[in-house]
Amino acid sequence: MKDLAAELERRRTAHLYRSRRQLSCAQTAELQVDGRTLLSFCSNDYLGLAAHPKVIAALQKGADRYGVGSGAAHLVIGHSNAHHALEEELAEFTGRPRALLFSTGYMANIGVISALLGRGDTVFQDRLNHASLIDGGILSRARLKRYPHADAAHLADQLKAAQGEKLIVTDGVFSMDGDIAPLAELANAAKANDGWLMVDDAHGLGVLGKEGGGCLAHLGLNQDDVPILMGTLGKAFGTFGAFVAGSEAVIETLIQQARSYIYTTALPPAVAEATRASLKLVRSDAWRRERLQALVARFRSGAKQLELPLMDSITPIQPLLAGSAEQALAWSQKLEKQGILVSAIRPPTVPEGGARLRITFSALHQDEHIDRLLDALA
Ligand SMILES: *Cc1c(COP(=O)(O)O)cnc(C)c1O
Repeated sequence: MKDLAAELERRRTAHLYRSRRQLSCAQTAELQVDGRTLLSFCSNDYLGLAAHPKVIAALQKGADRYGVGSGAAHLVIGHSNAHHALEEELAEFTGRPRALLFSTGYMANIGVISALLGRGDTVFQDRLNHASLIDGGILSRARLKRYPHADAAHLADQLKAAQGEKLIVTDGVFSMDGDIAPLAELANAAKANDGWLMVDDAHGLGVLGKEGGGCLAHLGLNQDDVPILMGTLGKAFGTFGAFVAGSEAVIETLIQQARSYIYTTALPPAVAEATRASLKLVRSDAWRRERLQALVARFRSGAKQLELPLMDSITPIQPLLAGSAEQALAWSQKLEKQGILVSAIRPPTVPEGGARLRITFSALHQDEHIDRLLDALA
Protein backbone atom coordinates (compact mmCIF):
# COMPACT_ATOMS: atom_id res chain seq x y z
CA MET A 1 0.00 0.00 0.00
CA LYS A 2 1.36 3.45 -0.87
CA ASP A 3 2.25 5.94 1.85
CA LEU A 4 -1.05 7.81 2.26
CA ALA A 5 0.28 10.23 4.88
CA ALA A 6 3.11 11.29 2.54
CA GLU A 7 0.61 11.76 -0.34
CA LEU A 8 -1.54 13.95 1.88
CA GLU A 9 1.46 16.02 2.90
CA ARG A 10 2.43 16.52 -0.74
CA ARG A 11 -1.08 17.76 -1.45
CA ARG A 12 -0.80 20.23 1.41
CA THR A 13 2.52 21.68 0.24
CA ALA A 14 1.10 22.04 -3.29
CA HIS A 15 -1.80 24.14 -1.85
CA LEU A 16 -4.25 21.49 -3.05
CA TYR A 17 -5.44 20.20 0.32
CA ARG A 18 -9.18 20.57 0.84
CA SER A 19 -11.10 20.62 4.06
CA ARG A 20 -14.68 20.96 5.22
CA ARG A 21 -16.31 23.68 7.26
CA GLN A 22 -19.11 23.20 9.74
CA LEU A 23 -22.28 25.12 9.15
CA SER A 24 -24.78 25.58 11.96
CA CYS A 25 -27.61 27.31 10.09
CA ALA A 26 -29.65 27.15 6.87
CA GLN A 27 -28.24 28.37 3.53
CA THR A 28 -28.55 32.13 3.35
CA ALA A 29 -26.32 35.14 2.63
CA GLU A 30 -24.85 35.37 6.12
CA LEU A 31 -23.79 32.04 7.58
CA GLN A 32 -22.77 30.71 10.97
CA VAL A 33 -19.57 28.85 10.10
CA ASP A 34 -17.19 27.31 12.62
CA GLY A 35 -18.56 29.67 15.25
CA ARG A 36 -18.23 32.85 13.17
CA THR A 37 -20.66 34.89 11.05
CA LEU A 38 -19.46 35.06 7.44
CA LEU A 39 -20.95 36.69 4.36
CA SER A 40 -21.07 33.86 1.84
CA PHE A 41 -20.57 33.91 -1.94
CA CYS A 42 -20.12 30.14 -2.38
CA SER A 43 -23.57 28.58 -2.49
CA ASN A 44 -25.45 27.32 -5.56
CA ASP A 45 -28.78 28.23 -3.93
CA TYR A 46 -29.09 30.91 -6.61
CA LEU A 47 -32.75 31.76 -6.08
CA GLY A 48 -32.66 31.58 -2.30
CA LEU A 49 -35.15 28.72 -2.07
CA ALA A 50 -33.21 26.26 0.11
CA ALA A 51 -34.84 27.62 3.27
CA HIS A 52 -38.03 29.14 1.82
CA PRO A 53 -40.99 28.74 4.25
CA LYS A 54 -43.25 27.22 1.57
CA VAL A 55 -40.59 24.65 0.63
CA ILE A 56 -40.01 23.77 4.29
CA ALA A 57 -43.76 23.43 4.89
CA ALA A 58 -44.10 21.12 1.86
CA LEU A 59 -41.27 18.95 3.20
CA GLN A 60 -42.95 18.72 6.62
CA LYS A 61 -46.34 17.90 5.14
CA GLY A 62 -44.71 15.33 2.86
CA ALA A 63 -43.03 13.68 5.85
CA ASP A 64 -46.36 13.54 7.71
CA ARG A 65 -47.92 11.72 4.78
CA TYR A 66 -45.08 9.53 3.46
CA GLY A 67 -42.66 9.25 6.39
CA VAL A 68 -38.96 9.75 5.84
CA GLY A 69 -37.37 6.94 3.85
CA SER A 70 -38.77 5.83 0.48
CA GLY A 71 -38.05 2.23 1.50
CA ALA A 72 -36.89 0.86 -1.85
CA ALA A 73 -35.76 1.62 -5.40
CA HIS A 74 -38.34 3.07 -7.82
CA LEU A 75 -38.73 -0.23 -9.67
CA VAL A 76 -39.22 -2.21 -6.47
CA ILE A 77 -41.78 -0.34 -4.33
CA GLY A 78 -40.20 3.09 -3.71
CA HIS A 79 -42.02 5.10 -6.40
CA SER A 80 -44.67 7.27 -4.70
CA ASN A 81 -47.42 9.62 -5.88
CA ALA A 82 -45.10 12.46 -4.85
CA HIS A 83 -42.30 11.29 -7.19
CA HIS A 84 -44.74 10.70 -10.01
CA ALA A 85 -46.43 14.08 -9.69
CA LEU A 86 -43.04 15.83 -9.65
CA GLU A 87 -41.97 13.95 -12.80
CA GLU A 88 -45.13 15.06 -14.60
CA GLU A 89 -44.60 18.65 -13.49
CA LEU A 90 -40.94 18.61 -14.61
CA ALA A 91 -41.98 17.21 -18.01
CA GLU A 92 -44.48 20.04 -18.41
CA PHE A 93 -41.91 22.62 -17.18
CA THR A 94 -39.33 21.48 -19.76
CA GLY A 95 -41.89 21.02 -22.56
CA ARG A 96 -41.09 17.34 -23.03
CA PRO A 97 -43.22 14.19 -23.01
CA ARG A 98 -41.57 12.75 -19.91
CA ALA A 99 -39.09 13.33 -17.10
CA LEU A 100 -37.38 10.86 -14.78
CA LEU A 101 -36.12 11.57 -11.26
CA PHE A 102 -32.65 10.50 -10.16
CA SER A 103 -31.31 10.67 -6.61
CA THR A 104 -28.46 13.05 -7.56
CA GLY A 105 -27.13 14.83 -10.63
CA TYR A 106 -23.98 12.77 -10.47
CA MET A 107 -26.05 9.61 -10.70
CA ALA A 108 -28.22 11.01 -13.50
CA ASN A 109 -25.17 11.73 -15.65
CA ILE A 110 -23.42 8.42 -15.13
CA GLY A 111 -26.75 6.62 -15.61
CA VAL A 112 -27.72 8.30 -18.87
CA ILE A 113 -24.38 8.05 -20.65
CA SER A 114 -23.73 4.45 -19.64
CA ALA A 115 -27.29 3.42 -20.58
CA LEU A 116 -27.13 4.97 -24.05
CA LEU A 117 -23.56 4.10 -25.06
CA GLY A 118 -21.30 1.07 -24.99
CA ARG A 119 -18.09 -0.28 -26.48
CA GLY A 120 -17.65 0.85 -30.09
CA ASP A 121 -19.62 4.09 -29.56
CA THR A 122 -18.15 7.57 -29.09
CA VAL A 123 -18.86 10.23 -26.46
CA PHE A 124 -17.85 13.83 -27.17
CA GLN A 125 -17.13 16.09 -24.23
CA ASP A 126 -16.30 19.77 -23.85
CA ARG A 127 -12.92 20.06 -22.10
CA LEU A 128 -14.53 21.92 -19.21
CA ASN A 129 -17.42 19.51 -18.61
CA HIS A 130 -18.43 18.62 -15.06
CA ALA A 131 -16.68 15.59 -13.53
CA SER A 132 -19.93 13.58 -13.47
CA LEU A 133 -20.22 13.78 -17.27
CA ILE A 134 -16.62 12.71 -17.70
CA ASP A 135 -17.13 9.81 -15.28
CA GLY A 136 -20.33 8.76 -17.08
CA GLY A 137 -18.35 8.59 -20.31
CA ILE A 138 -15.65 6.45 -18.73
CA LEU A 139 -18.21 4.11 -17.20
CA SER A 140 -19.95 3.64 -20.55
CA ARG A 141 -16.74 2.21 -22.11
CA ALA A 142 -17.38 4.32 -25.20
CA ARG A 143 -14.43 6.02 -26.91
CA LEU A 144 -13.82 9.48 -25.39
CA LYS A 145 -13.26 12.56 -27.53
CA ARG A 146 -12.76 15.86 -25.73
CA TYR A 147 -13.09 19.03 -27.80
CA PRO A 148 -11.66 22.47 -26.98
CA HIS A 149 -14.00 24.55 -24.80
CA ALA A 150 -17.11 25.69 -26.71
CA ASP A 151 -15.53 24.83 -30.08
CA ALA A 152 -18.43 23.55 -32.24
CA ALA A 153 -16.33 23.56 -35.43
CA HIS A 154 -13.74 21.28 -33.86
CA LEU A 155 -16.54 19.04 -32.60
CA ALA A 156 -18.02 18.81 -36.13
CA ASP A 157 -14.65 17.59 -37.46
CA GLN A 158 -14.38 14.99 -34.69
CA LEU A 159 -17.96 13.82 -35.37
CA LYS A 160 -17.26 13.20 -39.05
CA ALA A 161 -14.45 10.79 -38.20
CA ALA A 162 -16.27 8.93 -35.40
CA GLN A 163 -17.78 5.48 -35.21
CA GLY A 164 -20.78 3.89 -33.58
CA GLU A 165 -23.46 5.86 -31.74
CA LYS A 166 -22.40 9.48 -31.18
CA LEU A 167 -23.43 11.32 -28.04
CA ILE A 168 -22.30 14.90 -27.44
CA VAL A 169 -22.52 15.99 -23.81
CA THR A 170 -22.00 19.47 -22.42
CA ASP A 171 -22.69 21.65 -19.42
CA GLY A 172 -25.31 24.30 -20.32
CA VAL A 173 -23.76 26.90 -18.02
CA PHE A 174 -20.19 25.87 -17.19
CA SER A 175 -20.04 25.32 -13.47
CA MET A 176 -16.63 26.90 -12.79
CA ASP A 177 -16.66 29.56 -15.53
CA GLY A 178 -20.25 30.76 -15.69
CA ASP A 179 -20.32 31.01 -19.50
CA ILE A 180 -23.05 29.43 -21.65
CA ALA A 181 -22.30 26.65 -24.14
CA PRO A 182 -22.93 27.48 -27.85
CA LEU A 183 -25.87 25.09 -27.87
CA ALA A 184 -27.35 26.08 -31.25
CA GLU A 185 -24.00 25.41 -32.96
CA LEU A 186 -23.51 22.15 -31.05
CA ALA A 187 -27.04 21.06 -32.01
CA ASN A 188 -26.32 21.78 -35.69
CA ALA A 189 -23.10 19.79 -35.56
CA ALA A 190 -24.95 16.92 -33.90
CA LYS A 191 -27.81 16.90 -36.43
CA ALA A 192 -25.49 17.12 -39.43
CA ASN A 193 -23.55 14.06 -38.23
CA ASP A 194 -26.29 11.80 -36.90
CA GLY A 195 -25.31 12.49 -33.28
CA TRP A 196 -27.33 13.17 -30.15
CA LEU A 197 -26.88 16.20 -27.92
CA MET A 198 -27.27 15.99 -24.13
CA VAL A 199 -27.18 19.15 -22.00
CA ASP A 200 -26.51 19.22 -18.26
CA ASP A 201 -28.25 22.43 -17.21
CA ALA A 202 -27.45 22.24 -13.49
CA HIS A 203 -26.64 25.97 -13.36
CA GLY A 204 -29.04 27.31 -16.01
CA LEU A 205 -32.40 25.92 -14.92
CA GLY A 206 -34.22 28.31 -12.64
CA VAL A 207 -31.70 31.06 -13.35
CA LEU A 208 -31.96 31.74 -17.09
CA GLY A 209 -34.87 32.10 -19.50
CA LYS A 210 -38.60 32.63 -19.16
CA GLU A 211 -39.95 30.98 -15.99
CA GLY A 212 -36.42 29.75 -15.31
CA GLY A 213 -36.53 27.37 -18.27
CA GLY A 214 -32.72 27.48 -18.39
CA CYS A 215 -30.24 27.64 -21.27
CA LEU A 216 -32.66 26.13 -23.77
CA ALA A 217 -35.34 28.72 -22.98
CA HIS A 218 -32.67 31.45 -23.05
CA LEU A 219 -31.45 30.36 -26.50
CA GLY A 220 -34.84 29.33 -27.96
CA LEU A 221 -34.00 25.63 -28.40
CA ASN A 222 -36.27 22.59 -28.07
CA GLN A 223 -36.20 18.80 -27.86
CA ASP A 224 -35.47 18.53 -31.57
CA ASP A 225 -32.20 20.40 -30.95
CA VAL A 226 -31.39 18.86 -27.56
CA PRO A 227 -32.99 15.42 -27.21
CA ILE A 228 -31.67 14.87 -23.68
CA LEU A 229 -31.93 17.51 -20.97
CA MET A 230 -30.57 16.89 -17.50
CA GLY A 231 -31.20 19.19 -14.54
CA THR A 232 -30.30 19.15 -10.87
CA LEU A 233 -32.62 20.06 -8.01
CA GLY A 234 -30.02 20.89 -5.35
CA LYS A 235 -29.01 24.24 -6.88
CA ALA A 236 -31.54 26.85 -8.03
CA PHE A 237 -34.42 24.61 -6.87
CA GLY A 238 -32.97 24.61 -3.37
CA THR A 239 -33.82 20.97 -2.58
CA PHE A 240 -32.10 17.73 -3.64
CA GLY A 241 -32.05 15.28 -6.52
CA ALA A 242 -31.98 15.54 -10.29
CA PHE A 243 -33.95 14.66 -13.40
CA VAL A 244 -33.63 13.83 -17.07
CA ALA A 245 -36.29 15.00 -19.55
CA GLY A 246 -36.83 13.68 -23.05
CA SER A 247 -38.93 11.54 -25.33
CA GLU A 248 -41.02 8.59 -24.22
CA ALA A 249 -38.41 6.20 -25.69
CA VAL A 250 -35.45 7.91 -23.99
CA ILE A 251 -37.09 7.87 -20.57
CA GLU A 252 -38.35 4.31 -20.89
CA THR A 253 -34.84 3.20 -21.94
CA LEU A 254 -33.38 4.86 -18.85
CA ILE A 255 -35.92 3.16 -16.58
CA GLN A 256 -34.94 -0.21 -18.06
CA GLN A 257 -31.18 0.32 -18.36
CA ALA A 258 -29.71 3.14 -16.27
CA ARG A 259 -27.97 1.27 -13.45
CA SER A 260 -27.71 4.33 -11.20
CA TYR A 261 -31.51 4.59 -11.48
CA ILE A 262 -32.30 0.93 -11.00
CA TYR A 263 -29.93 -0.04 -8.21
CA THR A 264 -30.49 2.73 -5.72
CA THR A 265 -33.11 3.80 -3.21
CA ALA A 266 -35.61 6.42 -4.41
CA LEU A 267 -35.11 9.81 -2.81
CA PRO A 268 -37.45 10.57 0.10
CA PRO A 269 -40.98 11.37 -1.15
CA ALA A 270 -41.09 14.40 1.17
CA VAL A 271 -38.12 15.83 -0.74
CA ALA A 272 -40.12 15.39 -3.96
CA GLU A 273 -43.02 17.29 -2.30
CA ALA A 274 -40.61 20.07 -1.30
CA THR A 275 -39.35 20.25 -4.90
CA ARG A 276 -42.92 20.53 -6.21
CA ALA A 277 -43.30 23.61 -4.02
CA SER A 278 -39.98 25.04 -5.13
CA LEU A 279 -40.76 24.41 -8.81
CA LYS A 280 -43.85 26.61 -8.43
CA LEU A 281 -41.70 29.38 -6.92
CA VAL A 282 -39.01 28.96 -9.61
CA ARG A 283 -41.65 29.55 -12.28
CA SER A 284 -43.64 32.31 -10.64
CA ASP A 285 -40.98 34.41 -8.89
CA ALA A 286 -39.45 36.19 -11.88
CA TRP A 287 -38.19 38.81 -9.40
CA ARG A 288 -35.58 36.36 -8.14
CA ARG A 289 -34.01 36.13 -11.61
CA GLU A 290 -34.26 39.90 -12.05
CA ARG A 291 -32.62 40.39 -8.67
CA LEU A 292 -29.74 38.11 -9.70
CA GLN A 293 -29.23 40.08 -12.91
CA ALA A 294 -29.09 43.32 -10.92
CA LEU A 295 -26.53 41.85 -8.50
CA VAL A 296 -24.38 40.54 -11.37
CA ALA A 297 -24.48 43.96 -13.07
CA ARG A 298 -23.57 45.76 -9.84
CA PHE A 299 -20.67 43.40 -9.20
CA ARG A 300 -19.30 43.51 -12.75
CA SER A 301 -19.38 47.27 -12.98
CA GLY A 302 -17.61 47.61 -9.61
CA ALA A 303 -15.07 44.92 -10.51
CA LYS A 304 -14.34 46.63 -13.84
CA GLN A 305 -13.54 49.88 -12.03
CA LEU A 306 -11.13 47.93 -9.81
CA GLU A 307 -9.63 46.28 -12.92
CA LEU A 308 -10.23 42.81 -11.51
CA PRO A 309 -9.70 39.82 -13.87
CA LEU A 310 -13.39 39.12 -14.60
CA MET A 311 -14.43 36.26 -16.85
CA ASP A 312 -17.04 36.37 -19.62
CA SER A 313 -20.21 35.48 -17.70
CA ILE A 314 -23.75 36.85 -17.48
CA THR A 315 -24.76 34.24 -14.89
CA PRO A 316 -24.53 34.35 -11.07
CA ILE A 317 -21.24 32.42 -11.37
CA GLN A 318 -18.61 35.20 -11.50
CA PRO A 319 -15.11 33.74 -11.21
CA LEU A 320 -11.96 35.81 -10.70
CA LEU A 321 -8.94 34.14 -12.27
CA ALA A 322 -5.96 33.83 -9.93
CA GLY A 323 -3.71 31.45 -11.90
CA SER A 324 -1.86 29.44 -9.29
CA ALA A 325 -3.52 27.43 -6.56
CA GLU A 326 -1.38 29.32 -4.05
CA GLN A 327 -2.66 32.70 -5.25
CA ALA A 328 -6.31 31.60 -5.23
CA LEU A 329 -5.93 30.24 -1.71
CA ALA A 330 -4.20 33.41 -0.49
CA TRP A 331 -7.02 35.59 -1.88
CA SER A 332 -9.66 33.38 -0.31
CA GLN A 333 -7.90 33.49 3.08
CA LYS A 334 -7.56 37.29 2.94
CA LEU A 335 -11.27 37.66 2.20
CA GLU A 336 -12.12 35.35 5.06
CA LYS A 337 -10.14 37.55 7.46
CA GLN A 338 -12.58 40.29 6.45
CA GLY A 339 -15.57 38.06 7.14
CA ILE A 340 -16.25 37.03 3.54
CA LEU A 341 -16.44 33.45 2.34
CA VAL A 342 -15.48 32.72 -1.28
CA SER A 343 -14.23 29.33 -2.47
CA ALA A 344 -10.80 28.96 -4.03
CA ILE A 345 -11.25 26.49 -6.87
CA ARG A 346 -8.06 24.61 -7.69
CA PRO A 347 -6.92 21.79 -9.99
CA PRO A 348 -8.12 19.20 -10.78
CA THR A 349 -11.56 20.88 -10.61
CA VAL A 350 -10.16 23.46 -13.08
CA PRO A 351 -7.19 23.08 -15.46
CA GLU A 352 -3.62 23.62 -14.22
CA GLY A 353 -2.93 27.38 -14.06
CA GLY A 354 -6.65 28.15 -13.95
CA ALA A 355 -7.15 28.37 -10.18
CA ARG A 356 -9.71 31.00 -9.28
CA LEU A 357 -12.11 32.44 -6.79
CA ARG A 358 -15.58 31.19 -7.65
CA ILE A 359 -17.97 33.92 -6.58
CA THR A 360 -21.66 33.06 -6.73
CA PHE A 361 -24.69 35.21 -6.02
CA SER A 362 -28.09 34.44 -4.58
CA ALA A 363 -31.32 36.41 -4.90
CA LEU A 364 -31.03 36.85 -1.11
CA HIS A 365 -27.90 39.01 -1.37
CA GLN A 366 -28.37 42.72 -0.71
CA ASP A 367 -26.67 45.51 -2.70
CA GLU A 368 -24.72 46.27 0.45
CA HIS A 369 -23.33 42.71 0.42
CA ILE A 370 -21.93 43.22 -3.09
CA ASP A 371 -20.37 46.50 -1.99
CA ARG A 372 -18.72 44.79 0.98
CA LEU A 373 -17.32 42.13 -1.35
CA LEU A 374 -15.97 44.76 -3.76
CA ASP A 375 -14.38 46.71 -0.89
CA ALA A 376 -12.66 43.57 0.35
CA LEU A 377 -11.48 42.66 -3.15
CA ALA A 378 -10.08 46.17 -3.62
C1 LIG B 1 -23.64 19.95 -9.24
C2 LIG B 1 -23.51 19.41 -10.62
C3 LIG B 1 -23.82 18.08 -10.91
C4 LIG B 1 -24.11 17.07 -9.82
O1 LIG B 1 -25.36 17.26 -9.27
P1 LIG B 1 -25.64 16.69 -7.79
O2 LIG B 1 -27.11 16.65 -7.69
O3 LIG B 1 -24.99 17.66 -6.87
O4 LIG B 1 -25.01 15.33 -7.74
C5 LIG B 1 -23.80 17.67 -12.22
N1 LIG B 1 -23.47 18.52 -13.21
C6 LIG B 1 -23.13 19.80 -12.97
C7 LIG B 1 -22.77 20.69 -14.10
C8 LIG B 1 -23.12 20.28 -11.67
O5 LIG B 1 -22.76 21.53 -11.42
